[in-house]
Amino acid sequence: MTTLDRPHLYIDGQWTPPASSETIAVENPATEEVLAHVPAGTAADVDRAVAAARAAFPAWSVASDRAQVLDRLHTALASRAAEIARVVGLELGTPLKIAKAVQAGLPLTVLRSYADLVLPPPETIGNSTVVREPIGVVGAITPWNYPLHQVVAKVAAALAAGCTVVLKPSELTPLVAFLLVDAASEAGVPPGVLNVVTGTGPVVGAAIAGHPDVDMVSFTGSTATGRAITHAAADRIAKVALELGGKSANVILADADVTRAVKVGVGNAYLNSGQTCTAWTRMLVHESVYDEAVSLAAKTAGGYTVGDPFDESTRLGPLVSAAQRDRVLGFVARASARMVAGDSPVPQKGYFVAPTVFADVDPDSELAQEEIFGPVLSIIPFSSDDEAVAIANNSKYGLAGGVWGSEERALAVAARMRTGQVDINGGAFNPRAPFGGYKQSGVGRELGVHGLAEFQQVKAIQR
Ligand code: NAD
Repeated sequence: MTTLDRPHLYIDGQWTPPASSETIAVENPATEEVLAHVPAGTAADVDRAVAAARAAFPAWSVASDRAQVLDRLHTALASRAAEIARVVGLELGTPLKIAKAVQAGLPLTVLRSYADLVLPPPETIGNSTVVREPIGVVGAITPWNYPLHQVVAKVAAALAAGCTVVLKPSELTPLVAFLLVDAASEAGVPPGVLNVVTGTGPVVGAAIAGHPDVDMVSFTGSTATGRAITHAAADRIAKVALELGGKSANVILADADVTRAVKVGVGNAYLNSGQTCTAWTRMLVHESVYDEAVSLAAKTAGGYTVGDPFDESTRLGPLVSAAQRDRVLGFVARASARMVAGDSPVPQKGYFVAPTVFADVDPDSELAQEEIFGPVLSIIPFSSDDEAVAIANNSKYGLAGGVWGSEERALAVAARMRTGQVDINGGAFNPRAPFGGYKQSGVGRELGVHGLAEFQQVKAIQR
């Protein structure tokens, strides 16, 4: 037993024993030690959670105090910010500074934005009044890389819309979701409105995705799992929203501020040890500034301090698991491009990978096509804006991207990129802007009003 152990599930406003006594061990990826145990939920637990969410739906769907409840939830979660950063640092290995700013800070901003989102007034189209209504019981299935943000992006929007939720957090990083439940319980979120069943994807995730009484499945994770969830939901024509993988391009045009573009680009690619779906993992550089960019990227990567997430000087923590580290090292071992960074020392204990940069990467190669999800950057030269756009779009994914150069030219390139987001000259992440992917990066949008709309049905009333 450890102090972080969580033996119960949260169903119908109660901490309740799971149907099975099996547990999942949660590991600290920086030390390889077991941190805690959580229940390995089963389909029977999912049945109970869905029943509770269904029973709570009629009252919550019309509750006039949803904004106040979300506001109290925000206050309760904000009081746990330091603990959130610590727990994510322990279960995922995010360096403390980034854990505080992103892993704890971002979900609070998102929750605040939904507490503030007033329901839009009905729309009038000719003789029709168009109203928005909550879609019903939502199954939320989330990954490990931003373990609270991804949960809050779904739960806050669903609750604001009037939906009730059954959440399954990643089995690799389930602990921080319990802090959200503690906050929900303190904030008086009504019983059954938010239910949490921990467990594995093939058991609990599959039971949620295929459950006849789940009206919508909101999923963030790998494209392969997104496909399985879509199949499971198809039989009952349940709505599916998917936030999947990415292989985003950072396009550095001939007239860019190369120093800034490369520094910000490397930082973006390595954020959270590269375990970021929007990471700019392909750096596309105009041939006139290519050599300069390659040596700057190699130098920047070599300057990253890798190690203990709780050491203030650390910029790069471990990968989440041994399997993830081995997967990333497999991509590195198979690569045939020119390695210009990747041999800085890393701790022997823990799942660390040195910050790695490949130059002269073939745009069709595995390195440039597959999502690696580790600190591995691929640099690719181009000779014209047209060629840059063609390489950027040569991907099954379409989640994010960057363009650097004079604004007019950069905007023209951005307009031709087939992705859900593009940042021009380092434009800041906007937590209220629609977030989501083209192509195999997903279906639907999260965050802000567009994220809210995913959880709503639209009804037209004619007079
Ligand atoms: P994953 O697909 O393995 O797991 C995600 C979640 O799905 C976990 O909770 C897992 O238990 C569950 N799951 C696994 N198999 C399932 C099944 N058959 N049925 C139902 N649920 C199942 O992904 P991961 O390894 O946790 O996360 C990494 C991936 O997530 C990367 O590919 C990354 O790009 C993607 N991601 C995308 C976004 C985005 O917003 N687009 C954000 C973060 C991560």
